[in-house]
Amino acid sequence: MSGAPSESVNVTIIRGNIVTPKGVLYGGFIEVTGELITLVAASDVPLPTVESKRKQLGDRVALSFSSADSQFVIPGFVDIHNHGVGGCDEVCDHWIYPEVSQKYLARCGTLSTLASVIFSKARPEMTKKVVETIETRVGKVFEDCCVIEGVHAEGPVIADQGGLPPTETEPSLDDFKALCATMPSMKIMTISPSKEARVNYERLKHLLDIGVRPSLGHDRVATEQDILGALKLVKSPEDRMHTTHMCNVMSFHHREPSLINFNLCSRLPRGTKYNGAVPPTLEMIADFIHVHPVVVQSVLSARDPADIAIISDCISSYEPGKRLKYNGRSIAVRAEGGAYLCDPHGRPTKTLAGSTVTLADQFFSLLTHFSLDVTTACLLLATTPAKIARIADRVGSLEVGKRANILLVNGEMNTIQRRMVYGNWVNAEPYRMLRPSPSHL
Ligand SMILES: [Zn+2]
Repeated sequence: MSGAPSESVNVTIIRGNIVTPKGVLYGGFIEVTGELITLVAASDVPLPTVESKRKQLGDRVALSFSSADSQFVIPGFVDIHNHGVGGCDEVCDHWIYPEVSQKYLARCGTLSTLASVIFSKARPEMTKKVVETIETRVGKVFEDCCVIEGVHAEGPVIADQGGLPPTETEPSLDDFKALCATMPSMKIMTISPSKEARVNYERLKHLLDIGVRPSLGHDRVATEQDILGALKLVKSPEDRMHTTHMCNVMSFHHREPSLINFNLCSRLPRGTKYNGAVPPTLEMIADFIHVHPVVVQSVLSARDPADIAIISDCISSYEPGKRLKYNGRSIAVRAEGGAYLCDPHGRPTKTLAGSTVTLADQFFSLLTHFSLDVTTACLLLATTPAKIARIADRVGSLEVGKRANILLVNGEMNTIQRRMVYGNWVNAEPYRMLRPSPSHL
């Protein structure tokens, strides 16, 4: 008789208001076959039937429907800067225990993430362990988990640590190349233009050579010349530079422009010295703690949605009162959000150590506090970050041929009801998006 039973082909039809990069298809549907989106249709397209699909794909088709009438169907959020949210009590080690973060992020709507890796002189083994763990999981699907799509290295060539642990910030070119080689899944690396200008941008050029996007940042002293020198290395608009957490650990001056000034330019002034320099893309933590709402609004007014990625840069899950270590220092999560350094008596101080925000929380803020439409919000939270990380061939939008990373959101757009990762439904309770604390408004 027969051998192993043949596998069925799963086809899922998801109905609702479908948010595509070009606008909303009200009353439309998405067809998912296996892990891929195979149709994105408007309301006038007839729904597939079992008969029509069997004719196309054979008898083993299993067709299921998920109705999301009056709901919005949006792309899974893409976080290109994320330090993991838990799994152990040391932030630097979070990505050594990735499953806790991957499940938490999936529940909160972040279906694709880069794992942000940091470097510490005091704990040289940590980065190695983190990278080894992440490299075994990149691009793989685990039950109820978001997919880690690669690595973002935050350093080590940085001029200003900000909240990061002290590390060796001047590796030789050979050491730098060797370090990069340990991270084949690296998509983005944060690097400081003021440091690179002194060595003729040799490490930054290496990143361009190996297809890693340089992200300028952690640099309060970069001069106009330092920055222009970096921007001019870019040969095509697709390869332009990125910038790490706009406003945080960088500076603005009205006569001596630095990274913030450049981030506010959708184009540069005309003039010989600007010839050949392409303005960088930027990322921003719009949690109203790292960046004030007025500044978030300035950036949204100044730049195109194709140039802005909203990130979490989170270091912990949002659990008020939660205590953990960050490179050995005690930190605590405050009720209004954010993780703060503690004083010697264990009391949280006003020194911010990192965020506890999710991309979903920021989605809700973008719609309510800045009156963005849902299409634009999804560009900032999914499409643009995927392009910056060069993973847009797989994720970041609801389009035919992409992996089915899909969120079903209620009509009020404040609750994620279901999520699908690479064609698989995630088992998780609905996620109610958090509003920013009134103290920040
Ligand atoms: Zn970070």
